[in-house]
Amino acid sequence: MNVVDNIRLMALEKTVDYLYENSPYYQRIINSRKIKICSLDNLSLFPIITREEVTTNLAELRCKRSFPELVQYTTGTTGQPLPVYRTMNELLTIKEIVESVVPDSKALGLTLRLVGPQHGIQGSAIEGSPTFYVDVSHRNGLEYAKELLTAEHRYEDIVGYIEILIGSLNDIKRLTIHLLSKGVSPENHKVRWLGVSASYLTQYWRHLLTDFWRAKILNTYGVTEITGRAHECFICGRFHFDPYVIPELVNINLEKNQYVENGIGRLLLSSLYPFSADLLLLRYDTGDLFELYPTECSTGIPGFSFLGRAKHCLLLTNNEGCHCILTVAQIREFVDGLPDIALETRGYRVEHLPEQSLGRPCFSLNLEKGKDRVKAVVELGLRYPPYLYPKRIEEITKCMKKHLMEQNATLKEMVMIKECDLEIRFFGSDKVLPGVDL
Ligand SMILES: [Zn+2]
Repeated sequence: MNVVDNIRLMALEKTVDYLYENSPYYQRIINSRKIKICSLDNLSLFPIITREEVTTNLAELRCKRSFPELVQYTTGTTGQPLPVYRTMNELLTIKEIVESVVPDSKALGLTLRLVGPQHGIQGSAIEGSPTFYVDVSHRNGLEYAKELLTAEHRYEDIVGYIEILIGSLNDIKRLTIHLLSKGVSPENHKVRWLGVSASYLTQYWRHLLTDFWRAKILNTYGVTEITGRAHECFICGRFHFDPYVIPELVNINLEKNQYVENGIGRLLLSSLYPFSADLLLLRYDTGDLFELYPTECSTGIPGFSFLGRAKHCLLLTNNEGCHCILTVAQIREFVDGLPDIALETRGYRVEHLPEQSLGRPCFSLNLEKGKDRVKAVVELGLRYPPYLYPKRIEEITKCMKKHLMEQNATLKEMVMIKECDLEIRFFGSDKVLPGVDL
């Protein structure tokens, strides 16, 4: 067993003991299924838990009812946002790990952390480096961030410019657009590291951010409900998960309890004690699809690639099982750099930023069943009536089909053997298409 799995197994044994003592919900499951942890595979003895089940059973799931240090809310893409309580001990445990790797935190440089009202401010006590916090969901916050980034700071032995910028991809995009629209150039700031929490960063945005910030991008994936994240690897470009969270990939429609050891599956995450102490979830269904590359990275750690939310991807079930024939990531790679696509700006754009500069691209993916084959239909929302620019429509159709066939071997094969057709449709503002997030 490798080092990471060893850490996970020890933590899992502790976690199950802790849950037995403190969580009425898990105590019932451990008793009724007589669960004892001897290997990581024993985790599969626990049932998969969904977001809806967590919301319904929240009181019984929680272990500590003490006053929390921080309450973070999940983004309410499905139903009500879920409150996640974090204790000071959990936050300090993570800090200890960071400090064991980076002992001199001041050497990290000044940090600007972009925070939103939903995810809370975690408090400077647990930061690894001296940190400013700014809420950039409004114009004043964006202006404040601009001042902080373009000025030299002097605080006792800390002298210099902000070198680390951390935030959700949306907040980073918003700040970047604000700075670009104000004529700020890369010479006006000294940011060297850009910490982005993004489930998926398209090439278009990666280039735009790299050009403006001239910084190294540290991309992470995580969900609010679970402590522990995945970090994009500089070697293989895939995500590797922290040792204090257990990722599992299971078959797409969750029907059978089958692991995916190579290829596409649905991601389950398990939190571990003491990194989480209030809300611990085992085999939590993130609702996200990932592709697993078990041996691709020279570090020997399995790599994961994010494909999109399962409910937004196009899945096709036939005799051989469930296949993912189009992913949100593949569509986003194509449409993100396309100025023709309409953006749903609600919750994204701040009033003063340019129209259509920030938002969810409007598109939908559907399967239509015909007589002898199915049709994979991509609908794109445009900023103009499609009948005004027929040549442009022809051009986009051709390029997009080529891109999707190159990106997706399953789709290509199904089109070749005539099991599936691919069709691209266009709509102007006469049909409202949903904005799709990643
Ligand atoms: Zn790697």
